[in-house]
Amino acid sequence: MSLSRSILLWASENSWMRYHVPRWGFVKSAVKKFMPGERVEDSLRAADKFRASSITTVFTRLGENITDLSEGLAVRDHYLDLIDKISTNKLDVEISLKLTQLGFDLSFDETYERFKTIADKVKNKLGNVIWIDMESSSYTGKTIEFYKKIKSEFDNVGLCLQAYLLSAEDDLNDLLRLNSHIRLVKGAYKEPHGIVFAEKKKVDQNYFELAKKMLSVSKEKNIRTVFGTHDEKLILQIRQEADLLGISNEQLEFHMLYGIKLEFQKELAKRGNKLRVLISYGEFWYPWYMRRLAERPANVWFVLKNMFS
Ligand SMILES: Cc1cc2nc3c(=O)[nH]c(=O)nc-3n(C[C@H](O)[C@H](O)[C@H](O)COP(=O)(O)OP(=O)(O)OC[C@H]3O[C@@H](n4cnc5c(N)ncnc54)[C@H](O)[C@@H]3O)c2cc1C
Repeated sequence: MSLSRSILLWASENSWMRYHVPRWGFVKSAVKKFMPGERVEDSLRAADKFRASSITTVFTRLGENITDLSEGLAVRDHYLDLIDKISTNKLDVEISLKLTQLGFDLSFDETYERFKTIADKVKNKLGNVIWIDMESSSYTGKTIEFYKKIKSEFDNVGLCLQAYLLSAEDDLNDLLRLNSHIRLVKGAYKEPHGIVFAEKKKVDQNYFELAKKMLSVSKEKNIRTVFGTHDEKLILQIRQEADLLGISNEQLEFHMLYGIKLEFQKELAKRGNKLRVLISYGEFWYPWYMRRLAERPANVWFVLKNMFS
């Protein structure tokens, strides 16, 4: 991992910075590159604009690691209300969320009940899939256990898997056997040695190996296989592999983040690939934003430019 990436990921976890940085005006305005606004209405408007380019969306309310279980109840209610708003606006929006936003650090069972209430409403009101984000490696095993449990009750739940983990292949095999809906990403957290591939090249290779497996299984089974990446080379390789397997453009699904490679996003959608853009909103954007900076440390120049403008 590069030094700049390590520093930015360290900063994402630093409590002094978590408290102070979001109060700095120039950082606040730089964040707009990655989110249309803090309010859910900003996201609804952005989703409506994407619709014109045949791009659908995924919403996530920023927030993680709550320290009081009652906060998780407010988060649950927020998502229940969001489902109504999506339905009223007749938008094709899916939801993705972090379990620690519902109280996963404090109680598995309470988190389960909260998630279940949301998944049930998603199923009945939107009729689509709700996604579980994957957080740092200390949560991987617990999150997979949670997913397997919720999957035994709901068929409309999908899980994110991170290709940088050495354990990703075993987890993928296990989850594919259960016909899981999977969104494959590279992975965004600062992880200890020995858990993740040390070189980025190896992460990319592993991503492609896992993607090939997902494609071949998705041909046989009716499961969602989603590739969450902006890596154009990888996307080309995946498209070529899909061609070889006879998987059509319309069956191939990519998810990307708001604010990254917009022109490329439009191009993919124009070619007929399914594309969803993940839109984040909310006030608790600091750790998430630092992870976005770490993915491309050159983004820091953009923040500094805002400081001087
Ligand atoms: C829909 C979606 C959901 C995600 N959910 C999770 C999750 O639950 N858990 C998790 O750990 N991670 C998640 N991620 C983040 C993911 O793990 C990667 O950190 C992120 O996608 C960058 O990796 P990449 O595949 O785009 O490849 P990279 O090799 O990092 O990037 C490829 C190219 O994309 C561009 N790019 C990538 N990131 C940025 C950026 N921040 N700013 C500007 N340009 C950029 C650059 O041009 C770069 O060269 C998610 C990503 C997506 C797209």
